[in-house]
Amino acid sequence: MLDMTPGKLAERSALRVNPCKTCQPVGAMYAALGVHGCMPHSHGSQGCASYHRTFLSRHFKEPAIASTSSFTEGASVFGGGANLRAGVKNVFDIYRPDVIAVHTTCLSETIGDDLNAYISDLDIPEGKLVVHANTPSYVGSHINGFYNMMTGFINYLARPEAEKTGKIAVFPGFVNPGDMRELQRLLKAMGAAFTMFPDASGVMDAPMTGHYEMYPGGGTRVEDIARLGGSEITLALGELTSDEPANALKRKCGVEYKLLPLPIGVAFTDRFLMALFRQLKRDIPAELEEERGQLLDVMLDGHFYYAGKKAAIYGDPDTALGLANFVMEMGMTPKYVVTGTPGAAFVRRAGELFRLHGAKDCLAKDAADLFELHQWIKNERVDVLIGGSYGKQIARAEDIPLVRVGFPILDRYAHSYFPIVGYRGGMRLLELLAGALMDRQDRDCADEDMEMVM
Ligand code: SF4
Repeated sequence: MLDMTPGKLAERSALRVNPCKTCQPVGAMYAALGVHGCMPHSHGSQGCASYHRTFLSRHFKEPAIASTSSFTEGASVFGGGANLRAGVKNVFDIYRPDVIAVHTTCLSETIGDDLNAYISDLDIPEGKLVVHANTPSYVGSHINGFYNMMTGFINYLARPEAEKTGKIAVFPGFVNPGDMRELQRLLKAMGAAFTMFPDASGVMDAPMTGHYEMYPGGGTRVEDIARLGGSEITLALGELTSDEPANALKRKCGVEYKLLPLPIGVAFTDRFLMALFRQLKRDIPAELEEERGQLLDVMLDGHFYYAGKKAAIYGDPDTALGLANFVMEMGMTPKYVVTGTPGAAFVRRAGELFRLHGAKDCLAKDAADLFELHQWIKNERVDVLIGGSYGKQIARAEDIPLVRVGFPILDRYAHSYFPIVGYRGGMRLLELLAGALMDRQDRDCADEDMEMVM
């Protein structure tokens, strides 16, 4: 029986309302699109592939190519082996990718299709590759799909006997192409030789040239994934997203890895650069020290507008944790921090951050939905919402400013070109946050208080 007492929240275990996640294949498709010359392939029915592609296209405002095994009743009953065989042949014949990255769907998982067996039976053209990942959507979220596909690539392609490359393998976590570009800029500024995997820059933010290219110039090269086994170390960014693939590379090729939070805000960016400093034994260049100082400067400049303000943060686990840490660095309170992706480590990690900053009465929850977040907000209000587009109903209903950060952002443009990582990303976040809070103040204050602040 549900307890409907005002102010009390009913416990739900078998219902999600306005979920704060999407399904595994969406993440698998994004990871595959970060590999040069790759065709993601959805092993299931056509509707799933359409949904995954549409979801990615709406966020990135770019075409998200993919093929599908196009299950009908026959494949659903007898298995999708014949569909996969025909699909892979057609895709190689017609669209000529270097690699096809197959992910499963709810349907192919439920009927128990054995992708290892199917793929070992395929007639794959010389020089071409097929990899796969199991991505059942009734488990986890797009984050699990993303790292499962990364792990699939590593399991198929990374060579334990690869020669030492002297490079750092960098796993960027589930971030936008703009973030990947910013990480690359930081790595280059540090003089690092690296392979970023996956790398959606130059693919999901490719320029308009007037000519459609099915496989734009960006993306991690297949041969570089094969050589990951010869890396010096893996820097796995996003503790809850990149652990699994970094571990897979260690298991297969013996490459040690360092797990780091997404470099959002001051301390987490410091940790990324200090890891590079220790690995490369090179000083942090003056230009990055200057950027750090600039971020501290803008944090101080506007602190009276955001210090003490309460935020509700929702989204992907590593992004939400990075944002929570950053708002605490700014003197705000991350009153609610939620992710739709299940995993107790998220709550544990959020608790550690709350304690580190002395933040009191904050709530963190994994496998949460935005309906529940809305109920929390009704019981105790916040000053600002930080997360993707699906929070806009809460923003409207409660008249709370929403700062769009993370995934998915379906109702704005150009966001995915700009970073939230690094010191510069911190400056952008701060501008967005402070702007939203100051706009609200300007809207609500008396005419005589509409002064220009110094
Ligand atoms: S059926 Fe499963 S894989 Fe297909 S779109 Fe729905 S949740 Fe995703």
